[in-house]
Amino acid sequence: MSEGPSPTPGAIPHARLSLDARTRALGRTGCTIWLTGLPASGKSTIALAVEALLLDRNRPALVLDGDLLRHGLSAGLTFDAAGRAEAVRRAGEAALLLAESGSVAIASLVSPSRADRDRVRARHVRAELAFIEVFVDAPLEVAARRDPKGLYKKALAGEIASFTGVSDPYEAPLTPEVHVRTDELSVELCAAKIIAAIRV
Ligand code: ADP
Repeated sequence: MSEGPSPTPGAIPHARLSLDARTRALGRTGCTIWLTGLPASGKSTIALAVEALLLDRNRPALVLDGDLLRHGLSAGLTFDAAGRAEAVRRAGEAALLLAESGSVAIASLVSPSRADRDRVRARHVRAELAFIEVFVDAPLEVAARRDPKGLYKKALAGEIASFTGVSDPYEAPLTPEVHVRTDELSVELCAAKIIAAIRV
């Protein structure tokens, strides 16, 4: 007895492999490292350092940088709460696919909303893939002093609306898997602490 509708003639039947089957075939399981924090807290810098460490160990890894995604996958989205929620959702779905394929997805997004991040976490939990939330923590004064892109200067001058930490709230993770203080630890030590958490 056949189940469901018969396949469309010519269509390639697509039987989804289980995560177990993928893990057995690849000898590894992917995961997502989610870096969240204020602008200029150090997310992108640490993401690249983590990626380099993983590639050094022949571990497939890819940085999904929030700023860069806004030129492609998330082009045209706004910076208000709805636009940010959608940007986080899209990055989360991309990360999930990478993780499912056996890679380490390293997402680097301000992602100021706890609820938005928790939704991405829930998607990973459902897929039985690890979601490692990393709070990239620098006091606002330190981040504003660094200001590598000159954005705090503009935000404080009132030239940018909805700037996280200045005119928009940032909801820090309550129980992140990893917490790095970038005003206390070097980039290398922050990256090493994250790698230790994923045990590769
Ligand atoms: P974000 O991606 O969070 O907006 P960036 O990584 O673009 O932040 O910028 C952070 C700035 O802080 C960089 O200029 C970086 O060199 C500097 N920095 C100083 N110490 C650290 C550290 N421990 N970790 C990460 N960045 C640091």
